[in-house]
Amino acid sequence: MKIHRLVFAGLILLALAAPRLDAAAERTAKGMPGDPDKLFAQLDTLLPTPGVTRAASGAPGAQYWQQRADYRIKVKLDEQRHRLTATQTITYMNRSPDALNYIWLQLDQNIFKDDSLARRSEVAANSGTRRDAVGAGDSLSFAAMRRHQAFEDREYGFEMGPIRDAAGRVLRSTVVDTMLRIDLPQPLRPGTSIEINFDWQSNIVDEAAIGARGGFEHFTKTDTYQYFLAQWFPRLVAYTDYAGWQHKQFLGRGEFTLEFGDYEVELTVPADHVVASTGVLQNPEAVLTATQRARLKQAETAKKPVFIVTPEEALANEKAGTDAVRTWRFKAENVRDFAWASSRKYIWDAMGYRQNDAKRPFVMAMSFYPNEGEPIWSKYSTHAVIHTMEVYSRFSFPYPYPVAISVNSWERGGMEYPMITFNGYRPTADEKTGKITYSRNTKYGLIGVIIHEVGHIYFPMIVNSDERQWTWMDEGLNTFLEYIAELEWEEKFPTFGDKTNVLDFITDYMRSKDQVPIMTNSDTIVQFGPNAYSKPAAALAVLREAVMGRELFDHAFREYANRWKFKRPTPADFFRTMEDASGVDLDWFWRGWFYGTDHVDVAVGDIREYQVSTQDPEVEFPLKRSAFAADWPESYSVRQNRAEGRQTRVDRYPELKDFYNENDQFVVTNKDRNEFKEFRERLRDWERTVLDRAIKAGEYVYFVDFKNIGGLVTPLPLTLNYIDGSTEDYLVPAEVWRYNALEVTKLFIRNKRLASIELDRNHLIADADKTNNITPRRIAQSRVELFRGRDRERNQMLDALAELKGEPKSGEAAKDAGKTDAAMPLQPAPSTPPTSAVPSATTPPSQ
Ligand SMILES: [Zn+2]
Repeated sequence: MKIHRLVFAGLILLALAAPRLDAAAERTAKGMPGDPDKLFAQLDTLLPTPGVTRAASGAPGAQYWQQRADYRIKVKLDEQRHRLTATQTITYMNRSPDALNYIWLQLDQNIFKDDSLARRSEVAANSGTRRDAVGAGDSLSFAAMRRHQAFEDREYGFEMGPIRDAAGRVLRSTVVDTMLRIDLPQPLRPGTSIEINFDWQSNIVDEAAIGARGGFEHFTKTDTYQYFLAQWFPRLVAYTDYAGWQHKQFLGRGEFTLEFGDYEVELTVPADHVVASTGVLQNPEAVLTATQRARLKQAETAKKPVFIVTPEEALANEKAGTDAVRTWRFKAENVRDFAWASSRKYIWDAMGYRQNDAKRPFVMAMSFYPNEGEPIWSKYSTHAVIHTMEVYSRFSFPYPYPVAISVNSWERGGMEYPMITFNGYRPTADEKTGKITYSRNTKYGLIGVIIHEVGHIYFPMIVNSDERQWTWMDEGLNTFLEYIAELEWEEKFPTFGDKTNVLDFITDYMRSKDQVPIMTNSDTIVQFGPNAYSKPAAALAVLREAVMGRELFDHAFREYANRWKFKRPTPADFFRTMEDASGVDLDWFWRGWFYGTDHVDVAVGDIREYQVSTQDPEVEFPLKRSAFAADWPESYSVRQNRAEGRQTRVDRYPELKDFYNENDQFVVTNKDRNEFKEFRERLRDWERTVLDRAIKAGEYVYFVDFKNIGGLVTPLPLTLNYIDGSTEDYLVPAEVWRYNALEVTKLFIRNKRLASIELDRNHLIADADKTNNITPRRIAQSRVELFRGRDRERNQMLDALAELKGEPKSGEAAKDAGKTDAAMPLQPAPSTPPTSAVPSATTPPSQ
């Protein structure tokens, strides 16, 4: 690094101001994303106007209201026909200021009807449903063909009986795809309620074949089943202050927008089934043995999970089968939904969790799983349930329900409901030896999915955001807290593939081309996983560690959770609360991260080092002489001439030399000395003091250029490395970009000399290109693997000599067809399998 001498002058200021024009011109020329002049404007125009239901602070307004729906359901599970038969009563309370001429139910099972909007609007993709899974060229997966066949085999959707009011009068109703409108004989006035009664039946979907959030699972080896029932009954559509009836049709992605209420549910199932459900079991004497009840009591104070049904008992139980039935009765208070699972295969363990909450000190954490889940389920599941409550409650509120349940459901991924979650992942049994092993991905996938789904009991089951509209409000916030909980489970938890840090994971996605902003409706999001899960999680991680700091962030986030528990927040309520409670202006942050698609990439550019000039010619001229010599060394040609022995004319005729041959331009003259004297005399007293002090201190002055390549404005967590080996952390806030979002120059004055400046050493801001994060640049080090080309030529003569292998064992082919996702080529068969495009960055397929 070269030392310059800094002369206090207007010239320096000019040099700093100049890039603004360049940047503006560059912006226009390149068509840079975003408008830097507006990046720091307040969000006013983008957010809904606050009012009496939602305050400008982000809190519920003075006249906040929400509807309420209480449910009484009696349902029978027919295991032979995989079918539910039910009678249902809903009491709907109109707490809105509006009179309602009709009310709406959501019939989510209708999504599986042949003529549903969702099925008719599916695009041709390998999975049949995912817009971002569309590959290049035509291909069809085994899974997609199995799904087609499953729809051919059975009819799905609700078979609804007549809808009657409390007096038994039939109400006129109209089914509109996954929604049903009930016309009321007279308007439902504010402050009044209505009771409706109806019967319904529906076929339960084969989850593996159809791909749903609930259904049945068939264990082919033992010919046994488990049932997990979700979106299994008609539910009230939410009526809200911001959208009226939220009856945007169910297309598969956008989940559920629901009202709170109390539930009384009677589940009639085969007598040998064990049932896991939302709510508290009301008749344990009727459905549990004395031993099971004693074990449950013991589990309340146990230090580790206690088996209520042991693996051996579950194994014995699943072999029998029975025609008898038994009814389990559950009650749940103040929940927005109700789900349950039932099987004769279940192992059941439980462990009490005590929390610092006067109202709800005790929670029973429980897990239900078949023997196929062992040994990892008994080891991890209930621990993960309790760990989630410990961490999430710190960021929100005490867990408000009496039970928290994890059930082992489909292959990977999971799904959340109040008090109960369905979670995938099982070990693998070797085909020949039966030896049980599990991958690293299975272990951490299991722990991770349980944390994620139990975390959803907080967001959105309690902080009841509108999932049909905004996926990020539950998935993003929840993935962020899941990430925190996972790092508190184990420091090297591979939360994001092989990456521990969400900010290292998200950069590939944020640089990718086919993106929509986080603030996009659920069903039109492309690259769903990173958009709705990991990018908002990354945003919150940046907010917490690099923008607000943990204390302010945690305070504001807790405020949001507590303001909106058992209520329905919108994005504006979140954005406003985070600012309102912290005192930090975050409008630029929401703009960039939630309304934009730019990524973070800032380059540390040139660093110019100065020391303050004395302006004394006796001091400065010799320095200038050395600097000149360093800048313009003796030329190559001169040295070559000398090497050839060529003499210059002046050497040959010394009489040609004069004053200038003896004195270079850096020889001090009396005029220079006089000017210096005059300069000192002209300085005001304070200016002379400043100059002398700066010189005495030996200050180093640094002008450091930063270039915003990614376009997203960001704070700059810097590490200043000094020649003496010491380092200094310095956080430049994002407001540094408020005049020019593309280039800024930052001034540092230090009394020791810098060796380098590094940006984002601790990976706090999701900077996508780390190679430009340090000046002077570092050589990138790695290992290169030599490769050899592959010979793809088919040698038919040689292939004909190959021996025929043994026939596959019976049953193997059928099993493979059911399991593999390998692409099945269409005609003509291509020589290489068609590729199925995988999103460049996805979270595990949890929901
Ligand atoms: Zn989720």
